[in-house]
Amino acid sequence: MAEARVIDGRAIAAELRGRVADIASRLHNEMNLSAGLATVLVGSDPASQVYVRAKARACTAAGLGSFELSFPADISEAALVAEVEKLNADDTVDGVLVQLPLPQHLDAHRIIAAIDPAKDVDGFHPANVGRLWSGLPGLVPCTPQGCMILLRTVRDNLSGAEAVVLGRSNLVGKPLAALLLAADCTVTMVHSKSRDAPAICRRADVLVTAVGRPLMVKTKWIKHGATVIDVGISPAALPDGGSGVLGDVDFDSVRKIAGAITPVPGGVGPMTIACLLRNTMLAACRRRRLPDPLL
Ligand code: NAP
Repeated sequence: MAEARVIDGRAIAAELRGRVADIASRLHNEMNLSAGLATVLVGSDPASQVYVRAKARACTAAGLGSFELSFPADISEAALVAEVEKLNADDTVDGVLVQLPLPQHLDAHRIIAAIDPAKDVDGFHPANVGRLWSGLPGLVPCTPQGCMILLRTVRDNLSGAEAVVLGRSNLVGKPLAALLLAADCTVTMVHSKSRDAPAICRRADVLVTAVGRPLMVKTKWIKHGATVIDVGISPAALPDGGSGVLGDVDFDSVRKIAGAITPVPGGVGPMTIACLLRNTMLAACRRRRLPDPLL
């Protein structure tokens, strides 16, 4: 059997970012409108700082406005909610993103619930979660949306496909299950308490892994010809002595039996920021009662 087709997330994300940039430029030229994203960073976690900077850079590169707010780690919950409410009221801000995780004394659920759902570009507000599960239009979490876009590049018809989602986090696994269900898949979720995860995964026409355990998924988990989307990113020491990242899937062996597969890095990762730009653009258009752009 031929080796799996490798899904090039970098190229697909670059195309999406290019489409967002085209629309940003049209909105600016034709309507003098500029879409803007505000990122909120609390504390000085180095990884969070890197993520927030990357998001801001991507916004600027696509012609979107970027507002970076940062607050000390000991900010009170009430003060942070007040800052979020200021962004809700600011008409130049279309998207509000609170970088997670937050320091322990802050209740992330309460902070996210303070974001205007129309500006909730992470798609984590309970109103958007409810809209997703109810089949209503809303803002969808970026990483699961990115997985669906990658999946559609190799399978235009998902109707009736057996889809297994490995991992059940609110950030990735659960919204992915909702999106796959909306695409008419038969969806099974696997988590740490599932019995015989490999046997369940082996039924999958579409397997999405979001666990964070490097190379856990081996060939015995995979049905021949399956599409495998690997969300996992775990830091790892590489054989050359450097450091890098590994996915949940043992790519080198699994690619020999899968039909299509995403690499790590270069698969789902680049889609997350591209989908954040997409959500910011969707939010900007919807808030102004403009039709959804073709993204
Ligand atoms: P998470 O909140 O830690 O959730 C992990 C999930 O995996 C949980 O549902 C857990 O089950 C399940 N799990 C753990 N061990 C398992 C096992 N042995 N068998 C079956 N299920 C198991 O993680 P997350 O936020 O969803 O992220 C998952 C991975 O995706 C991480 O590597 C993260 O870095 C990566 N990620 C990547 C992107 C991207 O842009 N590419 C974005 C977000 C996350 P229980 O619920 O039973 O504990």
